[in-house]
Amino acid sequence: MKILKKYTGPLVMFLVFEAIAVALWLTMDNLFYLFNFSYIGISIAIGLALFENKYRHARRVTQLLVGLYMLVYLGLICNENMQIEGFWYYLFSGVFEAATIHYAVAKIFGPVFFGRGWCGYACWTAMVLDLLPYKRPPKERKKLGFLRYITFGLSLAFVAALFLLNVHNKDRIMFWSFLAGNALYYFSGITLAFALRDNRAFCKYLCPITVFLKPASYYSLLRVKVDKSKCVSCGTCSRVCPMNVDIMDPSRKRVNGTECILCMECAAACKKDAIRF
Ligand code: SF4
Ligand code: SF4
Repeated sequence: MKILKKYTGPLVMFLVFEAIAVALWLTMDNLFYLFNFSYIGISIAIGLALFENKYRHARRVTQLLVGLYMLVYLGLICNENMQIEGFWYYLFSGVFEAATIHYAVAKIFGPVFFGRGWCGYACWTAMVLDLLPYKRPPKERKKLGFLRYITFGLSLAFVAALFLLNVHNKDRIMFWSFLAGNALYYFSGITLAFALRDNRAFCKYLCPITVFLKPASYYSLLRVKVDKSKCVSCGTCSRVCPMNVDIMDPSRKRVNGTECILCMECAAACKKDAIRF
């Protein structure tokens, strides 16, 4: 019984993804979805189970399992553009598969249930950024959040232009734009991290996907909270948070509340075991 209680989180996450896997497999009549979402569910469950066992790099394990799978297998080998341009491309093509399903599950509707879990456990851009030296960001954030709307608009305009100008070989262009887009993301993400001494600066200011992620994650069922009966107000959790979330405030309106990536760095650092989902 104790074991079941300990592993409830990983088990629930696995079952949620398994339900999505089976539902999409049957409705789309495509075995790929069963494999894809089962693999992601297992990867997340492994990371959560390792976290329950206080393994320091638990989240990194999931980040690598999911991030490399998406970047290398889906992106480079299967030629699926899972960047935001790929989402626009499939959307404008009227096709509900691949990137559109990925976005619906991970970035548009999913965050209502698991917030920005995508950013903490699956994004292949952040998978690299998290290895950089500035894990604890400066206390004050820059007022650069408007940049994300510019990158969002540019990605939309780029794909819209391909359709409006009736460009041929769109499939090939999308593959090359996947390579170019990733190179650009890594270059700007690493440059920003060093310039602002903040590994997650790209996520805070530039990433276009946050335009989808932030509003939905405001309503997230899964939230990190402080148990006030255990908390001694030492402030450690706020200092280690890579996203500058005001975790002491339990309300949904807390400062940078929609930035929480559920990384649990705050929980791992808390000596009083006062932070849980
Ligand atoms: S904000 Fe963007 S780059 Fe950062 S983890 Fe989320 S999706 Fe990835
Ligand atoms: S509040 Fe905790 S879980 Fe959320 S981003 Fe900050 S450290 Fe990670």
